[in-house]
Amino acid sequence: MFITVENLKKSYLMGESKNEVLKGVSLTLEKGEIGVILGPSGSGKSTLMNIIGGVDHADSGSVHVDGVEITALDDDALTDYRRNSVGFVFQFYNLIPNLTVAENIEVVSNISKSALNTDTVLEAVGLEEKKRSFPKQLSGGEQQRVSIARAIVKNPKLLLCDEPTGALDYETARGMLSLLQKINSDFGTTILMVTHNTAISGMANKVYKLRDGEIVETIRHDETVAAERIEW
Ligand code: ADP
Ligand code: MG
Repeated sequence: MFITVENLKKSYLMGESKNEVLKGVSLTLEKGEIGVILGPSGSGKSTLMNIIGGVDHADSGSVHVDGVEITALDDDALTDYRRNSVGFVFQFYNLIPNLTVAENIEVVSNISKSALNTDTVLEAVGLEEKKRSFPKQLSGGEQQRVSIARAIVKNPKLLLCDEPTGALDYETARGMLSLLQKINSDFGTTILMVTHNTAISGMANKVYKLRDGEIVETIRHDETVAAERIEW
């Protein structure tokens, strides 16, 4: 198994009371699969992704990625993991406004060690022509393509996408999902994506429904699953 999350728990202190955000979450994803975490706002999706991506710590439980227990790594090893193994895509593209498209991709520090480069990833996302443009000259969908190019340029084993289509209209969102499918098949990247949009989860191999910090349903899409099946 490429990702194994076991009985993951996380609480935040809110004054005197404890806000239990993850209440024992378990999930698995095989190498090369696309997984979706589906859940309403506040259900703990980002917290879960941040722990899997090594940017937040769990209170208990474990996360293994490609045979390594992420939840047991020291700070240096965790930094290496974040830098070398994980790519992140967020809802708001987080591009640097005064850098060109190419320069935004080249801010990734370990690019020289990667099998990919700025040109290969810009070609993969269909933006070769925009290499010297600035973010404000691009549409929202194009900016998200740049942020995907930036996330994959180091050729990460795992791509974590937290509501990547949240700021996009439906048609652009569909295009973004086909792009993620293409990256998954071209580069063999395992992808875990968060959304609260049921309509876009049909592309996943596995869908985990998260509600109030608990997985309430797991759906495997080995065969075509009717969209109605995954309505809330
Ligand atoms: P989602 O991504 O599904 O909207 P989050 O994981 O962002 O959910 O948040 C789940 C809950 O945890 C929310 O109630 C949120 O307010 C709380 N939360 C998230 N991050 C923090 C934090 N750093 N400190 C305190 N509470 C937090
Ligand atoms: Mg979130």
